[in-house]
Amino acid sequence: MSKIKNLIIISALFCLITPVSALAYSYSGYKWFQTPGTIRTVDIDPIGRNTAEELAIRNSMSSWSNAGAKFYYVDTTTSGNDFGYYYEVSNDLAVNRIEINWLGYITRTYVKVNTYHPWATNGDANSYDFESMAAHELGHGLRLLHSSDTAATMYYSMSRGETKKRTLETDDKNGIKYIYGSL
Ligand SMILES: [Zn+2]
Repeated sequence: MSKIKNLIIISALFCLITPVSALAYSYSGYKWFQTPGTIRTVDIDPIGRNTAEELAIRNSMSSWSNAGAKFYYVDTTTSGNDFGYYYEVSNDLAVNRIEINWLGYITRTYVKVNTYHPWATNGDANSYDFESMAAHELGHGLRLLHSSDTAATMYYSMSRGETKKRTLETDDKNGIKYIYGSL
């Protein structure tokens, strides 16, 4: 089991908010000021991302966009909200960072994927599922934290070959609805 870490970059000191937990999901107190959140799916990283990974990111955006909440992601070619890559010998699979303004609103979110681990988009049993990771990290991008529900997309870890995080659970949907309101 490897961890899917999330870090937070706070751009002001005025942002200490106690996390609230309702049911199993967990929320940090930060949110996007307005919807949609934008994600650039086409890679500009020198490592290069294949089209299957781009599709996986778009699928993950759709999962959250169709969760029944007043928040959705859209694909963009210009925003700095991106999936990039890094290499580190560690159990961390990917890292999500957000930037917030002094009002506590999210101004940027981006993901780094650790290429130390094997990734696949076809459910390969010996690799980590790229779409499951993307769905989890985009949950952090809208500012859910980790859920204690082991079935949830926002559970903190996943195993090789596991693809269940592609599909949001009721707990994940309850989380995004709590933050942004139900449609
Ligand atoms: Zn996480």
